[in-house]
Amino acid sequence: MKNELIVSKFGGSSMADATCMLRSAQVALKHKGNIVVVSATYGTTNNLIQVAKLSQSGQWDDAEKLISEIKEKHLQIAADLKVNDHVLENLKGLFFELETLARGINLLRDLTNKAFDSIQALGERMSSLLFTEAMAQVATDNKVELLDVRKVLRTDNRFGKATPLPNDIRNLCEQYLTGLKSGTIYVTQGFIGATRDGETTTLGRGGSDYSAALVAEGVCADVLQIWTDVAGIATTDPRVVPEAKLLDEITFSEAAELATFGAKILHPTTLTPALRANVAVFVGSSYEAEKKGTWIKKSTTDAPLIRAMATRKEQALITLSTPKMLHAHGFLYEIFKIFNAHRVSVDSITTSEISVALTIDNATASNQDLLDELQELCDIKIEKDLSLVSLIGNNINHTSGLAARIFKSLGDINVRMICLGASKHNFCFAVDSQSADESIRRLHREFIS
Ligand code: ADP
Ligand code: ASP
Ligand code: MG
Repeated sequence: MKNELIVSKFGGSSMADATCMLRSAQVALKHKGNIVVVSATYGTTNNLIQVAKLSQSGQWDDAEKLISEIKEKHLQIAADLKVNDHVLENLKGLFFELETLARGINLLRDLTNKAFDSIQALGERMSSLLFTEAMAQVATDNKVELLDVRKVLRTDNRFGKATPLPNDIRNLCEQYLTGLKSGTIYVTQGFIGATRDGETTTLGRGGSDYSAALVAEGVCADVLQIWTDVAGIATTDPRVVPEAKLLDEITFSEAAELATFGAKILHPTTLTPALRANVAVFVGSSYEAEKKGTWIKKSTTDAPLIRAMATRKEQALITLSTPKMLHAHGFLYEIFKIFNAHRVSVDSITTSEISVALTIDNATASNQDLLDELQELCDIKIEKDLSLVSLIGNNINHTSGLAARIFKSLGDINVRMICLGASKHNFCFAVDSQSADESIRRLHREFIS
């Protein structure tokens, strides 16, 4: 049998310090990762975002303090890994880039999306530089090479949330990953990409999973391994429900719903390239790699009514109403034309004769241009700080008595909007943000625990 081609991805919690990096490198080696995609070290992306914002608002002393913290953290890892002078020089070059960008933002008091992406990208550029050392120390029989993912992960130029270009990525992977056949292990960055002109972009928060899937598609990998801080996908976030159960397997459709509806374990678009290229996906813990983990498959041995549940926080409910909608046609078309022009994705929607209620992210609900355009068409009401609670499973839209069971177990929790019937895999509803975790705990007790 030919050797499988494997892409392994390690998140920030697997990159926290030198010990974590060495442990993750051991896992990548033992599980035969050919390309290792890494996130920034734990908390660094948040810190870089903070540096950019402090610089923009003129709080330079605070920005400088945070830059020092980022430097110290990476220098500590470099010292613990005993990296050579060349690597240290490269690391200092990245620190210099960080300071220069932050000073520029501070001087101009202007933070463009382009500058913001370049600052955030430094997290992955630093971690991958150090992780290459950890990998080389562990994989002594292989050549280990640091690949600048911006050579292969081509995107459009929507800075902040760029769209990858899979055909370009495939061609570029062929061009730059030529050592795969001879056993070279490549270490590269998640989350970041570059335009055709070589300008740095990012794929949105949590995007390293997506990067890894895109690279896996680009090289026609057999398996994508997502190594994180939990031993697989659980029935719900174990931080909210400690007795949540780990799943041995889950379908692509269910996992995609779970990710889209808020489960942080996977970036929502991760599974699209994997499905496109028929890459098997595994999720496991870099801390307890011997545990079973979860396989995401096209089909599974069972199809339970409720497999898992999730919450998506920071949602707004927008109610759009107009008497013009009475017996009229074209209203929904006009509304969605506006959402489309603003590139807003609407995840759940219900309608009555004269009104439409839908949920979007809190941040989008503050987009004044969008609201102005909608207001020209109809009356709008906005309720912010809601959460979408979703139950994910099978045959959900054809199971009698399910809604009654759900609402009985929710008891006194006020439900603001319900979406049922559109998907056989999903039942979702909106509640006040403070009630989201409690809703999940009650539903988990009723359907899973
Ligand atoms: P990484 O840094 O490896 O990308 P993340 O923090 O992005 O890790 O994702 C892992 C976290 O996802 C877990 O620590 C857990 O709290 C959360 N999570 C949310 N939903 C689930 C779920 N259904 N199963 C497992 N973990 C979940
Ligand atoms: N470092 C990025 C983030 O924190 C991407 C990732 O970790 O997936 O959002
Ligand atoms: Mg993540």
